Amino acid sequence: RFDVSAPALTRLLSREPRRILRAVDEVSFTVKRGTTFSIVGESGCGKSTLARMVVGLQKPTEGALRFLDIRRADGTVGPPRVQMIFQDPYASLNPRWRVGDIIAEPIRELKLCPDAASTQARVGDLLEIVGLSRSDAQRYPHAFSGGQRQRISIARALATEADFLVCDEPTSALDVSVQAQVLNLMVRLQKELGLTYLFISHNLSVVRHMSDHLAIMYLGRFVETGAAEEVFGRARHPYTRLLLDTIPDVEKPNRSRQPMSGEVPSPIAPPPGCSFHPRCPIAIERCRVEPPVLRPIEGEFVSCHLA
Ligand code: SF4
Ligand code: MG
Repeated sequence: RFDVSAPALTRLLSREPRRILRAVDEVSFTVKRGTTFSIVGESGCGKSTLARMVVGLQKPTEGALRFLDIRRADGTVGPPRVQMIFQDPYASLNPRWRVGDIIAEPIRELKLCPDAASTQARVGDLLEIVGLSRSDAQRYPHAFSGGQRQRISIARALATEADFLVCDEPTSALDVSVQAQVLNLMVRLQKELGLTYLFISHNLSVVRHMSDHLAIMYLGRFVETGAAEEVFGRARHPYTRLLLDTIPDVEKPNRSRQPMSGEVPSPIAPPPGCSFHPRCPIAIERCRVEPPVLRPIEGEFVSCHLA
């Protein structure tokens, strides 16, 4: 759970007393090593806040985050090393540093290589692992495209010998064709290095082919969560179905689609009852007064009175 107090803004706008914005609430999930857990929702649903909590950039007001020890290929045992890949590859790389220094910084900081020569060799290896060339170490970020910059960000994360990457919309700033290349790279690296991903996206089609487990998030809560093939195949929550409807289907180009109506309500004053009811096409009277709870349905968890 993560609460943000929004005193100044709300007082200014409404002259009302201090109120609490509950950005993430009653969210519970487990990510198994070597798998991808994706969290999907529209902007403002709390998914970035959740990602930032997992990497320790924000503290939850309540609840706990536990990392179980893992045994690595080199025999060491300990909690996973967690790194974050940010959304904007233009803002996350220092423009004044050569790419080689950007990737070498965590290696030097964590003293992972004994000397300058081995650090340089490791940087070259990392550049090759992400599909760039060793000589790119000498260049500055401005010389690279968005997709190449995201490869550099991944190399920098791997430089720490990370086991667990939290990826907050890592491809949403990229062109569609470049997106696919970066996603394919991430899938390959996961297989080769046994990486674990927490993958945040607003786009269900982006996560479709790389997720083992999936959670659909709405106004700070999970509304549906389960194995990816279940969530894609059955889509038991009306919101999941609407998100799926926005994905073009090449096999059924003339299929009728239901557009998503309305805006995401303010998390400062969420609607009563089911917070999705103002946008839900099948809402009943009960939905306006009684909030549904996340309950198990055939191996999934769904929060909807009608599921
Ligand atoms: Fe729609 Fe009601 Fe289900 Fe909420 S509880 S998703 S409003 S049917
Ligand atoms: Mg975000």
